[in-house]
Amino acid sequence: MAEIIDIANPTRTQAILNQYNLRAKKKFGQNFLTDLNVLHGIVSAAEITSEDYVIEIGPGIGALTEQLAKSAKKVVAFEIDPQMVNVLSETLLPYDNVKIIEADILTVNLSDIIDAEFGQQSSVKIVANLPYYITTPILLQLLRANISWENIVVMMQKEVADRLNAEVGTKAYGVLTLTVQYFAEAQLAIKVPASSFNPAPNVDSAVVKLTPLTPEIMVDKPEKLFQVVKGSFSHRRKSLWNNMIQTFGKTEETKTHIREALEKANIEPSIRAERLSLTELTTLYLKLESEGLI
Ligand code: SAM
Repeated sequence: MAEIIDIANPTRTQAILNQYNLRAKKKFGQNFLTDLNVLHGIVSAAEITSEDYVIEIGPGIGALTEQLAKSAKKVVAFEIDPQMVNVLSETLLPYDNVKIIEADILTVNLSDIIDAEFGQQSSVKIVANLPYYITTPILLQLLRANISWENIVVMMQKEVADRLNAEVGTKAYGVLTLTVQYFAEAQLAIKVPASSFNPAPNVDSAVVKLTPLTPEIMVDKPEKLFQVVKGSFSHRRKSLWNNMIQTFGKTEETKTHIREALEKANIEPSIRAERLSLTELTTLYLKLESEGLI
């Protein structure tokens, strides 16, 4: 077989775009990785082996997909842009362990697709150079989906990466921080300069590795816990009490139950949610549940 030049190469990437008369689309957050070292760094952070089933989000013209295909057992990649899907049918032709699904990642049922493509409840690794305009919704979807994953290694804007490990009480601390903390440990794996992409994004980028974690306090229905967390942060500048009555209702009976729950959780009603740890918010959630508010 003739030697294949990696897609992740500035000249080849531009040649592919020219060949198809394409330009990166802003509306889909298209910034193509052209730096092979970064791609090798991503594959190595994800510890991809020939036994692994991998989910990729947004393959673009296939730069990361190609490196994943070389190391993994099988890669299933979701791409929203039909023009990219067309390009991929050619650029990934040498790899028979890749399946491209044309779909919006935010609307797919990942659990069903994993069962169908890899076998019932297979564990996966999730790898992506994320479309930055929907980084947070994608992360929340992946974490809350009922799937078994070994690690999630994803490129995102540095500012969002900082939110994943933010300290209680800081501006960056919020629903995303708490969701990640409940399900995972987050580690900054690689800082990536804008020059590694075509076109260069106008924000700093970082690759983050998430590893699954069992939270200090587990709840039966995490999605309900996160509804309460979201409600608690709905007006960051307001007190927890105000956000609670906004979420649960303002009748005297409801207020009594909220007051009871706060007291049992040992939390001041006047505090702001951003000052509460995951353990404190989970404790409050359980007390609200025993007051019949959940
Ligand atoms: N993986 C490629 C790379 O590293 O060069 C491209 C990464 S680019 C930052 C993001 C990719 O996600 C684009 O190909 C874009 O079309 C795709 N995308 C954007 N929104 C999407 C969505 N909702 N569902 C699936 N793919 C999406």
